Amino acid sequence: MSIKIILAGPRGKMGTSAVNMILNNEKFELVACLDHRYENKKLSEILPQFNKEVPIYTDMEQLFKEVSADVFVDLTIPEVGYKHTLAALENNLRPVVGTSGFSNEQIDTLTKLAKEKKLGGIIAPNFAVGAVLMMEFSKQAAKYFPDVEIIEKHHDNKVDAPSGTAMKTLELIKNERKEKSQGHPDEFEIIKGARGAESEGVHVHSVRLPGLVAHQEVIFGGKSQLLTIKHDSFDRESFMDGIALSINAVLDLEELVYGLEHIL
Ligand code: NAP
Repeated sequence: MSIKIILAGPRGKMGTSAVNMILNNEKFELVACLDHRYENKKLSEILPQFNKEVPIYTDMEQLFKEVSADVFVDLTIPEVGYKHTLAALENNLRPVVGTSGFSNEQIDTLTKLAKEKKLGGIIAPNFAVGAVLMMEFSKQAAKYFPDVEIIEKHHDNKVDAPSGTAMKTLELIKNERKEKSQGHPDEFEIIKGARGAESEGVHVHSVRLPGLVAHQEVIFGGKSQLLTIKHDSFDRESFMDGIALSINAVLDLEELVYGLEHIL
């Protein structure tokens, strides 16, 4: 039997790649999409490259009432992505969330609700397998190199900063790293923000430029040596294997996990 999927954000860059991935996977069935701009349309009308009569809904409540599905995939923006995910869980759907920018409180609320309902789900700041390894290797390196800074680079349509991947890397590094305030104790900024954002002594620099997709370098400094752990996503395709893995995995989970590493 196929896995029935509802997708929010089908016209976005991630959403369009996800539609393509779902339609080309024989185990998956795209049963409906949520899109705030188009009412009473079919997928083929808003994305003519996909010749499919999948219904598009603007009203989330109506969608969950009328369409039965197994998995809800969200690839939108943080403000609505959280509401969608909460409603999906309330309607017994398993969420697979790529949307970045949820607060820790929001993630906690969703985790509690999933646990109460014994529903599997995943929120992953990065669905690229290489990026998950980059974070894992950074975690290992942080044990030996407490001097570390992060540079993340994304396309200039990204609204949140630092990226979800940088936030997750920070969390992993902090658990391993000896506490340290990075840089000179008397350092000062001539231009505000020159040293980037700072969290528990680790500095994070967010670059936003057209031409970029999703890139991150974690730079560790030691005596006469530098270790750079770097990952580049050149196309949204790089995230699709992780989303497909997650759609399969959430069916066997009874809780919501944060990070693709939990299902690899
Ligand atoms: P995008 O191209 O800007 O797509 C966002 C989509 O969300 C657009 O189609 C937008 O529609 C739609 N949207 C906005 N408000 C909405 C609403 N109220 N209801 C329903 N849909 C709404 O961005 P993207 O590059 O595809 O990224 C989408 C999300 O995935 C972002 O949060 C991004 O940070 C995240 N992301 C995650 C990963 C990962 O691996 N986890 C990787 C890349 C990106 P309009 O165009 O009409 O506003």
